[in-house]
Amino acid sequence: MKTNKKSPTETNGRAKLSVVSTAKAVAKTQDHRKPVPLNQRKLNFGDKWNYAPAPEDNKHIKIAPRHELFIDGKFVEPSTGKYFDSVNPATEEKLTEIAFAGQSDVDVAVKAARRAYDKVWGKMPGRERGKYLYRIARIIQEKSRELAILETMDGGKTIKESRDVDLPLVAAHFFYHAGWADKLQYAFPGRNPQPLGVVGQIIPWNFPLLMAAWKIAPALACGNTIVIKPAETTSITAMRLAQIFQEAELPEGVVNIVTGAGETGAAIVNHPDVNKIAFTGSTDVGKLIAKSVAGTGKKLTLELGGKAANIIFNDAPIDQAVEGIISGIYFNQGHVCCAGSRLLVQERVFLTVIRKLRDRIQTLRVGNPLDKNTDIGAINSKPQLEKIRELVQSGVDEGAELVQPACELPQKGYWYPPSFLTGVTASHRVAQEEIFGPVLSVMTFRTPEEAVERANNTPYGLSAGVWTDKGSKIFKIVNKLRAGVVWANTYNKFDPTSPFGGYKESGFGREGGLQGLAAYLKFS
Ligand code: NDP
Repeated sequence: MKTNKKSPTETNGRAKLSVVSTAKAVAKTQDHRKPVPLNQRKLNFGDKWNYAPAPEDNKHIKIAPRHELFIDGKFVEPSTGKYFDSVNPATEEKLTEIAFAGQSDVDVAVKAARRAYDKVWGKMPGRERGKYLYRIARIIQEKSRELAILETMDGGKTIKESRDVDLPLVAAHFFYHAGWADKLQYAFPGRNPQPLGVVGQIIPWNFPLLMAAWKIAPALACGNTIVIKPAETTSITAMRLAQIFQEAELPEGVVNIVTGAGETGAAIVNHPDVNKIAFTGSTDVGKLIAKSVAGTGKKLTLELGGKAANIIFNDAPIDQAVEGIISGIYFNQGHVCCAGSRLLVQERVFLTVIRKLRDRIQTLRVGNPLDKNTDIGAINSKPQLEKIRELVQSGVDEGAELVQPACELPQKGYWYPPSFLTGVTASHRVAQEEIFGPVLSVMTFRTPEEAVERANNTPYGLSAGVWTDKGSKIFKIVNKLRAGVVWANTYNKFDPTSPFGGYKESGFGREGGLQGLAAYLKFS
């Protein structure tokens, strides 16, 4: 990333913010022996310390030209005869063709899942189910390098995140739930926990394999069978997971994977023989699903959008908080439902935080997601990039100031530089709507009460962050925040033992931990 050039748009956006010292400017200052104030001193190596390319080797990764549906333990052609392209968002190259499942394919998948539930999985002792889950977890660990590369090629996320975050968590979810499979009566003593039957699951594109693990592992541990639909732009790793299920000799029909578009998801939701729907995605689609399911007796969990407040108090450890802000919003290109996308900074430290943040985003490396040094990979799809651009423009039009480093973005692919908007007010669209990209909306507050009021002033309620030196303040604030997950002096920490989910328009129900298990059980 070049940090010593400014684009014209950036100059406009930075009207009131001082521009970060360029290499030349620093050299000039040093030449004249003018003292640089302590709080402005920083290491600046200009272009003398560029990283050498460190691409992960993907030559050995084989992607079949076509991916079929996975129904009843076999790969089958879709009845529609249709396929759609899956492209690498970093290169715009076609990776493969994915089968488009129609209503009749979903029906066949639900029938297979019902048969598997009635004849095998629903009756199988938890001890035996657990063995399959352990086996799947181990195979995932064995293949984790291949899966991480595929995830990066298919979705645009950086290899360091797919390798070090997504894949370890995918395996951890299977291991964790394997452990519960034969202990459900201890998890819920005296409540006679029983599986629900066939569950329909619909997942998004931001954490393709991880969302599949979040959904599949607890459902299987509890004795349910599954029909799952991955997102259109990121189906490849789900189909690789199907191969892992075959390798693990998971009984036929226990997990069925139907790829396709929104209508494929709707066919699962509306199928009369599905007992539960678990959905992660946008609030708009979540609302549609809630309407379709209402009155049918199907159980429903919805994990929807978010607009989390990351709150920085005057007494926060500022350097750590800045790292927390960075990981809160720029992790996974900001394609994270719980991203800390609204930064609330107490007024006294506002300028310090903004200065440090501005310096820090200059160091983030945007580009080839397969390079191990890349911090920000490709935006998942063209429509998502257009959505980010449109929302950022609305912020600028409404009076916010855009701060962006001048980076050279690759010619091909979908890219957006790490950015933040200052001067945002609560009524701006960028303060209310999910941008789902590497863009932070910055606001200030004076008192803890104001921080809470501002943090809760959103239709969402998925997550939040609190940064302060005082433990008592953490407890006080956290109890007033209407968010399902609150991180204190850290951000974006995930663990299968910890329940995750939201309030208000962020949905309902929890995934992970005991609460996540309960969502796949009925009690008598
Ligand atoms: P969607 O909610 O449309 O997609 C999520 C999943 O639902 C996908 O598998 C999608 O299929 C499927 N789906 C779409 N329509 C229906 C339907 N009517 N019935 C059942 N399933 C359906 O999200 P988008 O991909 O369109 O992203 C739009 C915005 O949503 C993003 O910009 C972001 O703001 C937000 N989002 C939030 C996520 C979160 O984790 N909270 C995750 C993803 C997006 P298909 O992929 O084929 O369309």
